[in-house]
Formats: sequence, C-alpha cells, structure tokens
Amino acid sequence: MLQALLLSRELARWRAAGRRARLWWRDDDARTPGPALERLLAHALAFDAPLTLAVIPDGDRAELAERLATVRGVRVVQHGADHVDRSAGGGAFEFPPERTAEEIAAALRDGWTRLAPLPGALKLFTPPWNAVHPRLTDALASERYVGWSAWSEVAPEAALPRIDTHLDLLRWNPSPRFRGKARLASQLRRQLARRRKAGTWDAPIGLLTHHLDHDEAAWKWLAGLMRKVRRHPVLTWSDLGDLLPETGRPQ
Ligand SMILES: [Zn+2]
Repeated sequence: MLQALLLSRELARWRAAGRRARLWWRDDDARTPGPALERLLAHALAFDAPLTLAVIPDGDRAELAERLATVRGVRVVQHGADHVDRSAGGGAFEFPPERTAEEIAAALRDGWTRLAPLPGALKLFTPPWNAVHPRLTDALASERYVGWSAWSEVAPEAALPRIDTHLDLLRWNPSPRFRGKARLASQLRRQLARRRKAGTWDAPIGLLTHHLDHDEAAWKWLAGLMRKVRRHPVLTWSDLGDLLPETGRPQ
C-alpha cells in the first residue's frame, strides 16, 4: 500500500508538470507459438499495447512467422545469436571475452537471416542475460543494426541508439516468479523520479516480460498494468519504432 501511494504521488507530480511518461514493452525468449505466447498476444491486442517480441534465432522460425502474420503491430527483434550460455558460471553470456568483433558480427548475421522474414522484424539486438560484450557495439554497427536494448540505462549517449528495459516482471533466483506488486510499484516510481529530477521526461521506461516463465500472479499484474495505462493521464505506451529515429510503425 505504501509503495502504491508513493507511486501515485510521483505520478501526480508528472501530471502537475503536464508531462507524460513513455512506457515500452519487451518480451523475451520467443521461438515458436504456444499457449503462453497466445496469452501474451491476447494481452497486447486487448489493450492495444505495442509489443516487442525479442525472438531467439537458433532455428527455423517459420511457425512463428505464420502466427505473427495474423496479428497487427507486433515488433520482432533479435534476442541473441543462439542463446547458449558459454560462461563457466557466474553471470551468463553468449560471447566469451576472447571473441572478436568479426566473430560476433558473423554470429549476429547468421541469426538475423532467420528473423528478417518475420512480420514486424526490426533489426535491433537484445543480448541474452543483458550481457554486453566489449566488442558488441562494434559488431552491431558493422552489421548496420538500427539499435539495441539491454538493461537499466536511462538516456545513454551512444552512436547506436540504445533503448533499455528497467522493470523486470519476474525475480529469477532460485527460480522465476512474479517480482511482487510493491517492488514493481517502487521500481516504477524510482524510474519516474529519476527522469523528472534529470529533466529527461521523454526517456522511455522499458517493461521486461518473459511469457514462458510467468506465474499467475505475473499475468494478473500485467493485465492490471494494461488496464491502468489505458486510461491513465500520465502513463502511455510507445511503440519501439517511435523511440528510434526514422523507423515507422509495423503494419
Ligand atoms: Zn533470454
């Protein structure tokens, strides 16, 4: 209750300032259609919320392409090359430190060829586990990605546009479960306050979901957020393309 109250106070400050917060929504780890993906798409469609699916390109994605051909306004971006953890424990990553920019670029290219035909495909990269290899941005630039998305930066000044996520619907240890209403309210409030104090009102706030791992409490909170945003004077959804320079909405 306290966190909900503090959040509503922060939202009132935005309203008094005549500002609107730009939320965007990224869901990770899609490969193929299934009941959880259907549930996710139903949320997006029912509430007209622009959804970005971060899809793992480790195989043929024709079934997903077929499913997405019948829904409007869903973005597809690239989630990793093969989503295989090559760390030896402690902090997962796909690309070991010794990989060169050229090797990473080749892996990215290989993945993108499988995603490019999907409806709504946007050449933007999201590293699994938010693991940012020191050569990653060089590889993305050489492969002409339009941007990338990881975790927690607010308004990064970078050559390649970076649109991060900031609210993770789930807790991960020891196993995935809903993060909790109070924690999410607190995190949203802190993200809003950070932007208000810095004057970076337009810096997007990214919601991160993982449809394959949601429990019922996570689905319930997600639907509640959608209902709240639909009528809210401050909270609004942005399409990922509108957060990037010179990219149109998907058809
Ligand atoms: Zn992932």
